[in-house]
Amino acid sequence: MSLKDAGTSPSAEQKPALPLPWQAEIWRQWLQQMQDGRLPHAILLSGLPGLGKRTLARALAHYLLCEQPQATEPCGRCSSCQLLDSGFHPDWHSLEPEAPGKAIKVDQVRDINTQVQQSAQRGGYKLVLIWPAEAMNLNAANALLKTLEEPEPRTQFVLVSDQPSALPATLRSRCQQWPIKPPDQATGQAWLSCQLTQEQNPEILLKAAGGRPLQAVKLATPELEEPRQLLLQTLEAMTRGADPSEQAARLKNFPLQDLLDYLQSWLADTLRLKLVGEAGVADSRQLPLYRNWQQLLSSQQLLNLDAEFKQAHHQLLTNPNNELFIEKLLIRLTEELGHE
Ligand SMILES: [Zn+2]
Repeated sequence: MSLKDAGTSPSAEQKPALPLPWQAEIWRQWLQQMQDGRLPHAILLSGLPGLGKRTLARALAHYLLCEQPQATEPCGRCSSCQLLDSGFHPDWHSLEPEAPGKAIKVDQVRDINTQVQQSAQRGGYKLVLIWPAEAMNLNAANALLKTLEEPEPRTQFVLVSDQPSALPATLRSRCQQWPIKPPDQATGQAWLSCQLTQEQNPEILLKAAGGRPLQAVKLATPELEEPRQLLLQTLEAMTRGADPSEQAARLKNFPLQDLLDYLQSWLADTLRLKLVGEAGVADSRQLPLYRNWQQLLSSQQLLNLDAEFKQAHHQLLTNPNNELFIEKLLIRLTEELGHE
């Protein structure tokens, strides 16, 4: 399979790992650096979530650890490639928080430092992926800094971060930084259309995801699609005057954080519809709802509700009763819609 074909493969987590189509230029530069023997020992991949940063990091790991790499890609057949696929390559080290949202601790970094000081078990490269790099607490970052200042030969560090500005400047300066940008629309849509079912619209989803193709795939998953549909139906019913208490009961298992995020982004979209028209709308799947809201709510009302829902985020920390919390939000919306 050539690099070009990677764009039409059915999955981003394909085997062997290959860069995504919009990462082709970075990949070309890396190949050149490898050929010239000047690939920096620490790389920082940054960019918004949903651009395939980890896919690119995995592609580099596959290429560096492959025993028979081809001109532009790993062979996918050697025992090293197979070990990577199984997730048990002894020279591949992944440093992540022990649980999502937690910090990467200094002991975890020390552990990695010890391992990279030993020679590679399979005689080639050692590769360390740190994700998300901003999860390292200060002690962890300092421990890593020491290792990066005195690099071991044939040891490659790849730091992946959605928020590189949260990393200590000293650490950033030890890495060669590679920001990943969203693809142009045609490239993003072409890749996305191969990941979706025929009924799903790549153009709408890519726009709703802010141009980030992997985020668009996520938006299309049933786990996210069903709650979105339920919320949409509920809000449409309320816009026609349905009782907020009854509607709150339908939503009682809805994660509150997600509910607030949806409400705020849909209010913002309605405001964009008002101000700049349909072209300004981010997620056009809700356009019929936006059109109704646009007629019933003034710009000031939209801004007021947005401010109130923003404020409601703070109440989430105190574990409110789901149904009561949702009922309160819906009653406020009903009042503004003029159905009180
Ligand atoms: Zn291989």
